[in-house]
Amino acid sequence: FESRLPHVGTTIFTVMSRLAHECGAINLSQGFPDFNAEDVLFERVAHWMRAGHNQYAPMGGVAPLREAIKQKISALYGAEYDAEAEITVTAGATQALFTAIAALVHPGDEVIVFEPVYDSYAPAIELQGGRVVRMQLTAPDYRPDWGAVAEAITPRTRMIMINSPHNPTATVWTAGDMARLAALTHGTGIVIVSDEVYEHIVFDGLRHESCARYPELAARSLIVSSFGKTYHITGWKVGYVVGPRELMAEFRKVHQFNVFTVNTPVQLALADYMADAARHEQLAAFYEAKRDFFRTALAGSRFELLPSSGTYFQLARYGAISDEADTAFVQRLTRETGVAAIPVSAFFADGRDERVIRFCFAKNEATLAAACERLRQV
Ligand code: PMP
Ligand code: GLN
Repeated sequence: FESRLPHVGTTIFTVMSRLAHECGAINLSQGFPDFNAEDVLFERVAHWMRAGHNQYAPMGGVAPLREAIKQKISALYGAEYDAEAEITVTAGATQALFTAIAALVHPGDEVIVFEPVYDSYAPAIELQGGRVVRMQLTAPDYRPDWGAVAEAITPRTRMIMINSPHNPTATVWTAGDMARLAALTHGTGIVIVSDEVYEHIVFDGLRHESCARYPELAARSLIVSSFGKTYHITGWKVGYVVGPRELMAEFRKVHQFNVFTVNTPVQLALADYMADAARHEQLAAFYEAKRDFFRTALAGSRFELLPSSGTYFQLARYGAISDEADTAFVQRLTRETGVAAIPVSAFFADGRDERVIRFCFAKNEATLAAACERLRQV
């Protein structure tokens, strides 16, 4: 048979986590916490299971969770979404992104993405017959070039996919970026898919610029988030998408036939857990402390740290240590130093290698300290 994705291999996150495991390395590659979520969350899941909530949830998600999402977005971004028609609970952000693309991209449509780009976007676009149009973000500041975006927009541009705070560069878009995006899409039929899974992880007093803050953008946006990032439960695979009802109606046409609905007791537990806003409000400070700890511990190393303004990732240049390609370097680092990282070339279609690697600092301090001890030796 002919592969539909001939150039696609196994995702770098699986590759590096597997290698880390094989080598017994400290795994700072794939992004997930090495600490547990709070017991009270697990108790709520058990509660709802015992209370008999173990059958299909409504297709869009259980009502209390949609209501909690609605309240959060209203409080944080001042946008009012209709919980019934404009919010859908998904099996993680990955499914939300894939479904949004499947629902909206026709063969031959162009979809603008920003490289380095999260690895699930392009294959999803290509599976629909869409054409991926790649805007370049360049080290060390990785700011979008809006002039280049303006030139890239054509009558075939169907969608622009954005991601702030950005994985892997840890940059955060500004209100100025959002204004440029709004101006460029004004009067067009372009849909924005805004991947905001790190919405609560923004540092140094910066503000998360959700599309939901900007009515003109919100009107053309499907905004995606993930409970995995916010509540330290990446393995639960629960997220959500919000957007205006016309877009959401199209989204649900696909959603109902690829997952239909998401784990019921987990949704009910998350609704309870969301009631305490402090849980997401404290996340930025929590991860900022980890970022600072990690950066301080690496200060004596030969890695050159790039800024990290959001997410739980830290980019580092290793040119002072080696002139190997980044994939070779991270493999050697995993095997010989015992610390796994992600080569940033994995996020470029042409494998552009700027000799930059990504560390995840969503770890206990003891883990970070042990990793940095090793990293200071190289
Ligand atoms: N988008 C980005 C930018 C991510 O970093 C991730 C994963 N961590 C996802 C989407 C996928 O999220 P989920 O695990 O909820 O599918
Ligand atoms: N988003 C996580 C990361 O960037 C990984 C998720 C996955 O493994 N697909 O590391």
